[in-house]
Amino acid sequence: MLKRTYGIVIKNAVFGEADLIVTYLTPHYGLLKAFAKSPRKIRSRFGSSLEPLTYASISFFGKEDAGLPRLTQSDIIRPFHSLRCDFNCLLDISEILELCLNFLPEREPAPDIFKLLLNMMTTLESHTDGATKLFHLFYKMRFLQAAGYLPGLSACGKCGTKTSAGDFENSKAERHHFYIAQGAVMCSRCIKGGGDSMPLSRGSLKFYESLLKWNPSAIGRVNAPAPLVEELRDIIDAHIKYVLGPSRFAHKKGG
Ligand SMILES: [Zn+2]
Repeated sequence: MLKRTYGIVIKNAVFGEADLIVTYLTPHYGLLKAFAKSPRKIRSRFGSSLEPLTYASISFFGKEDAGLPRLTQSDIIRPFHSLRCDFNCLLDISEILELCLNFLPEREPAPDIFKLLLNMMTTLESHTDGATKLFHLFYKMRFLQAAGYLPGLSACGKCGTKTSAGDFENSKAERHHFYIAQGAVMCSRCIKGGGDSMPLSRGSLKFYESLLKWNPSAIGRVNAPAPLVEELRDIIDAHIKYVLGPSRFAHKKGG
């Protein structure tokens, strides 16, 4: 059965002599792998529409539950060519693409994450001065939020007591502690024996909660204190690394 949708090329892998297996992020099918016959034989619009980061309208043919559907048509909606040419930019985006590949199941609708990625790429392309660390942190957090993997910093991971509430015994303290294996801050009643933890300052906690509420368009106007951004980035990165396991995610230390 022929289906039409649109998607962003997350990656492509060479298959055989001239074929490709293309992985898309689409709103309706989430991660979708499709087989493209002979795109590498001739320089064509079809071939260039399969480059990573290309946003394209596609048609594919395949039975439900059958293996790889075959890509029958692909028309570029927006090439995002400049993002592929800027190495640093590409590194930052690659990290988000890796998250898509590792966190999202195949063939499950992912409209929010699709929108987020498209929004990020569109914003990045209009920022000729390059993305800030805050921008990158923001999208990483929002991605985890949309995928359901956000670390819990606003409440104890076990009993749910809000970190800002009076009955969280450290609510007035200058810092809480994020426990990596629990993926959350923990109150002393719930945490037994500790485990690896990272300090979370009150300033960073407040900033974290703001970042989850802000509109992406606000990020460019925010002048965030670097220590807060770095503290949150380290916690988010440690969380991702723990959830995926060290072998599945190449941790990139920004700096
Ligand atoms: Zn607790």
